[in-house]
Amino acid sequence: MVIMEYTNPRIVEVAGVLKARLQALENKADILKAVELKALYAEIPTLQPEERGGFGKEINALRQELESLVAAHQEQVAALPPIDVTAPFDINVPADKRPQLLPSQQGSVHPLMREREIMLDIFYRMGFTAVESRELDDDYHMFTALNFPDGHPARDDYDTFMTEETDANGNRLIAPAHTSTMQNRVMQKYKADLENGKPIAVLVPDRVFRNEDLDARHEHTFYQFEGIYVDKGVNAGHLMATLKTFLEEYYGKSLEVKSQPFYFPFTEPSFEFALSCPFCEKKGCHICSQSGWIELLGCGMIHPNVLKMAGIDPQIYTGFAWGGGIDRLVMMKYGIEDVRHFQSAKLDFLRQFS
Ligand SMILES: [Zn+2]
Repeated sequence: MVIMEYTNPRIVEVAGVLKARLQALENKADILKAVELKALYAEIPTLQPEERGGFGKEINALRQELESLVAAHQEQVAALPPIDVTAPFDINVPADKRPQLLPSQQGSVHPLMREREIMLDIFYRMGFTAVESRELDDDYHMFTALNFPDGHPARDDYDTFMTEETDANGNRLIAPAHTSTMQNRVMQKYKADLENGKPIAVLVPDRVFRNEDLDARHEHTFYQFEGIYVDKGVNAGHLMATLKTFLEEYYGKSLEVKSQPFYFPFTEPSFEFALSCPFCEKKGCHICSQSGWIELLGCGMIHPNVLKMAGIDPQIYTGFAWGGGIDRLVMMKYGIEDVRHFQSAKLDFLRQFS
């Protein structure tokens, strides 16, 4: 940037006026059209011939200085970080009236998000890919594609939130009550891999919603991790081994697992999967209600109808799926007694994990 020392008192005067005005100008380039600057040029013919050269040089120098100040300002504006136009305030509000953002060093990763990363990392190492769920889905993916035909009584087991709007079939849209809504999409998306000898191995770690009465174990919004695995010759032993391997890695200790028959329309056979309490080594404690075991999740072999609806031949391929609560796993890891802490925004709770 050119910073000039002027000798002619007229130039010194005008330079002072224009630089002060520049500070306040909205459009900095307007300073180059200032009448004072034009007036200086107009003064040249009124001067003695021997003064004209020096005076003219100083006007040009002043003009260059102003140009360089304008350019420097424009560079500075261009270097400012872009404004997030989706941020919840009007960007046309003057800067000093906008809400101040908290300094980022006062924030921390939410414990559920941090634990979700740890879980994902374990599954990545086991060859799984992660797929995002949706926060609004349709009746087909919530029920029909999972072998709950219209009028199936098991549909009533889910207390779902629905919109007043309807989809093309006249059904209301649903805030997914489980991550299984993604099963059909995942299998459609990756079924070409099967023909190339590659299994479908996908994890859906995402948010689900239930219209439940809230208590220490029930929250209207929580996280599930859905596992989907399809290949030739897959059996329930693979399912148990996969879950056991994951849980032992996540809790960092040897665990026992067991399963008992259960019923879900989208798996056959279906199981309720339990693990030995990672807290008390099966001695009994308040986490496991003194039983030494924790019923953790539902799982099973993917129902042939569910495979068929995704265009996969159940005569050739079999697969397993499970759906479990992430919040629940994290609660057991840290002995958290109330699921509602996670969504409570209580800083004294959150700071224990930062
Ligand atoms: Zn226990």
